Amino acid sequence: MAAAKLDVLMLSVGADLPYLTGYEAMPLERLTMLVLARDAAATLVVPELEAPRVVPDASFVIRPWSEGDDPIAAVAELAGPVARVAIGDLTWTRFTLALQAALPDAHFTPANTIMSPLRSVKDAAEVDALRHAARAVDAVAVEMRTRPFGGRTEADVSRELVDRMLERGHQRANFAIVGSGPNGASPHHDAGDRVIQSGDVVVCDFGGTMNGYCSDTTRMFVVGTPTTEVADTYAALAEAQSRAVRAATVGTSCAEVDAVARRSLAEHDLADAFMHRIGHGIGLEAHEDPYLVAGNSTPLAAGHAFSIEPGVYFPGRFGMRLEDIVVATAVGPESLNVSPHDLAVVE
Ligand code: ZN
Ligand code: ZN
Ligand code: ZN
Repeated sequence: MAAAKLDVLMLSVGADLPYLTGYEAMPLERLTMLVLARDAAATLVVPELEAPRVVPDASFVIRPWSEGDDPIAAVAELAGPVARVAIGDLTWTRFTLALQAALPDAHFTPANTIMSPLRSVKDAAEVDALRHAARAVDAVAVEMRTRPFGGRTEADVSRELVDRMLERGHQRANFAIVGSGPNGASPHHDAGDRVIQSGDVVVCDFGGTMNGYCSDTTRMFVVGTPTTEVADTYAALAEAQSRAVRAATVGTSCAEVDAVARRSLAEHDLADAFMHRIGHGIGLEAHEDPYLVAGNSTPLAAGHAFSIEPGVYFPGRFGMRLEDIVVATAVGPESLNVSPHDLAVVE
């Protein structure tokens, strides 16, 4: 904070607060906010009725507010006369605007500038949590290889993915995309009532939260024998994905990892079909820094955890994606997802 010339950090909903305190604010109209002044004790302003859920910690003081109190005034008073405030990126606008009115001389800046470098580099315990979450969805991916897909709706397969993630130890499923046939050409297709047909290529992209840390994997299925076009396209995609994983070494820029997959797909005239970035950081949130995208010159550091997920999409026909979570380490990239990468032939 001193280096960034910040006087006070204010964190409300989102992952920054639990990262520092272990407590996750309820996303409600009642304000919860950690006020961390550079030279004073940190104080958690919290609704009185939520206060029992806060696990006391020597690193902050708990200050409950009662119905009828003004939590904005409490936060402004704790902040004192300040010049520069860093406020959590996900803070509700109504609270930010009220705080700006209560602190008219303060300059507000996104807390991400100081929280992102902390959160994006995972320590050993965090990598371990990500690895366990990854192995749990890997088990689900393996189980799905022997399950029937044809004749079922996408929504039915999606529900099965959710159930299996919970069975395998996730506390929460965050998404279970099932895109069959032409629906697979929409990368974030919502599983719907389309009945999966023989010959369909099916994208399954699923993840959740296990002990606070997120999983996210994509595996591809085909109902019955794949056509030559589907098999060849998948081989090119898998090649691009594995090249990008191998390229994700410490010091390589985020943009370069993206470019490696793009160049690999271009060898098969598939570059135009890959319309999104290759990946996103992952941790307490399913999408967080660093983003592996053209233009991001940030070099990968040991402890960065991110997805490598190239995809190719053919509107009206089908789509494919292959996704692993990878950690950059001093001895090279470690893929946390290790379930089979081939195109799974299902009934
Ligand atoms: Zn996605
Ligand atoms: Zn995904
Ligand atoms: Zn992802």
